[in-house]
Amino acid sequence: MKDKKDHRIEIIAVGSELLTPFFQDTNSLYLTQRLNDLAMDVSYKTIVGDDWTDLTQSIQEALSHAHLIIAMGGLGPTKDDRTREAFATVLERKLIFKEEILKKIEARFKRRGMFMPQVNKKQAYIIKGALILDNKNGTAPGQWLDTKEHIIVLLPGPPHELKPMFEASVWPRLQKLRTDYVARRVLKTAGLTESKIESLIFDAYPKASHLNLTTLAYPGQIEIHMTAHSKESKAQAERRVKKLEKAILARLNDSVFSASGAELEEVIGNLLCLNKKNLAVAESCTGGFLGHRITNVPGSSEYFIQGIVAYSNEAKTNQLGISPDLIEKQGAVSPQVAQAMATGIKEKANSSYGLAVTGIAGPTGGTPEKPVGLVYIALAWDKGTEVSKNLFLGNREAIKFQSSQKALDMLRRHLLKS
Ligand code: ATP
Ligand code: MG
Repeated sequence: MKDKKDHRIEIIAVGSELLTPFFQDTNSLYLTQRLNDLAMDVSYKTIVGDDWTDLTQSIQEALSHAHLIIAMGGLGPTKDDRTREAFATVLERKLIFKEEILKKIEARFKRRGMFMPQVNKKQAYIIKGALILDNKNGTAPGQWLDTKEHIIVLLPGPPHELKPMFEASVWPRLQKLRTDYVARRVLKTAGLTESKIESLIFDAYPKASHLNLTTLAYPGQIEIHMTAHSKESKAQAERRVKKLEKAILARLNDSVFSASGAELEEVIGNLLCLNKKNLAVAESCTGGFLGHRITNVPGSSEYFIQGIVAYSNEAKTNQLGISPDLIEKQGAVSPQVAQAMATGIKEKANSSYGLAVTGIAGPTGGTPEKPVGLVYIALAWDKGTEVSKNLFLGNREAIKFQSSQKALDMLRRHLLKS
């Protein structure tokens, strides 16, 4: 190892529009993901506008602390597209005119029955020593420059140009540089708090430096992300991560709903199909969100019969046959009403399962006895019902999500037992 810099990667996104509230630098997320697949971690990300001084200074800085620099955007024909000029200037290399690029750009315009505007000519220049990366989806070619001290990659900004170019021309070259293999697993859980999970898995936390485990907590869903590295082979990295995954699974059991990336709504869809059962839902505070999640899964018509949003008391009575007396006596947010909603929708739809949600999503409407976040969720099946009382934290959106998550998880756990 010559220098720490030798292993550092920087991504530079060029474009003043990326510094406004209207555009996001999504390209760098894509690149980070693909680099991580090669066991390459990104150390720096920069977003810089089209200003010449800012641009050249960013490049200067990147050269001082990174070995691999991937810059994107600003390769277009207009005056504010100056990425190639800026790199050439900082690297003190000439820009070389390439007839072959010009021919391609001209041909591209000709195919569309147009003449190439003169401004496009500047796209036919490459930094001395760079390889041309073909652009099948636009005019600006990319560039790959190996200066011995640095590898510099220039890519066009539009994602539909950048991605195919990266896959076809950059990925194979980076693959040759890899020094490490990585394997990943994500276990998604529902129904346990983060601290409960910590207490269950703390003794399985990996000690070896080639293993890593992190927990990411979202309201209603906690994920265990695991990675294993190997200097030897992908297969060894896979074996290592599998062993760790097995240890975690043994501790979390049924609380893990997916090890394959699938979301909870997909998992319950599969379970319903496997068990040849179907489902209907009655929603109050989730306002259709539960049905929305269930129907986001392709093929959900196999097992989802209907959903009713019964928001008002009248709707609960008219649509689900709940007696006004029960609502009056227990309140719309009560275990009794949740249960009646679940059996009501099950009967109305003639389904195997009825799932119902009633609660207070806030921010107003809470009382000391029935605070914001109080949500009753009920499941009804042929031989019985189950009701859960929940106190969710967070804003309206978070409470709606957690309610739908809990409802789906109740159904999942029931299906696993049946
Ligand atoms: P063009 O030839 O289209 O001008 P270019 O290489 O000069 O290509 P830019 O002009 O910087 O690229 O960007 C063109 C468009 O590509 C932007 O308007 C934006 O929609 C998209 N884009 C640029 N950079 C990014 C980025 N980092 N993430 C996502 N989209 C981007
Ligand atoms: Mg441009």
